[in-house]
Amino acid sequence: MTRFCVSHEQNLVLPHVARADLQAVYAALQAAGLETGNAGLITDIIACPGLDYCALANARSIPLAQQLSERFGDPLRQAEIGDLKIKISGCINACGHHHVGHIGLLGVEKKGAELYQITLGGSADENTSIGEIVGRGFEPEKVTDAVETIVETYLRLRNDPSEPFIDAYRRLGAQPFKDALYPEKARAA
Ligand code: SF4
Repeated sequence: MTRFCVSHEQNLVLPHVARADLQAVYAALQAAGLETGNAGLITDIIACPGLDYCALANARSIPLAQQLSERFGDPLRQAEIGDLKIKISGCINACGHHHVGHIGLLGVEKKGAELYQITLGGSADENTSIGEIVGRGFEPEKVTDAVETIVETYLRLRNDPSEPFIDAYRRLGAQPFKDALYPEKARAA
């Protein structure tokens, strides 16, 4: 019987597959629609159960993760963007680890409405950092566009394709991302 583990990044790991069996295992995964090659890329998202399943939630997490997966689903675009971790929590309990996402999305509630607060620059690797809140929250229908604005800003400002998002963010700081997300504020400054 094949055993597997579930990683904290919400991926299934099949350990100890003999090299000779790799092709057959991959074919079986393909037949089951489980062969997506996106580990560590923008669609390899951690999302908590959110408002669909959790009584503590302020906002939905799973539909947002699905929207982002669709928006950035093109494998060539994902490869161009490179290593980028999005993490989504439906409330401040942080089960989706949003605070250590390169891009973190936190569900908050304002006057009964769902909003998403964006944090940037979090990291759970050996250079741990907590993400910085960029500004006012975004409505559910605007948050995918906001993430795209962040990604496009990174692609425009990175030194070259070998500079990952987190390195570019640490070099540039939050300001260029804030200016892109809140152009009205940038114009008024
Ligand atoms: S982060 Fe909040 S909404 Fe998400 S699973 Fe945890 S308690 Fe529930």
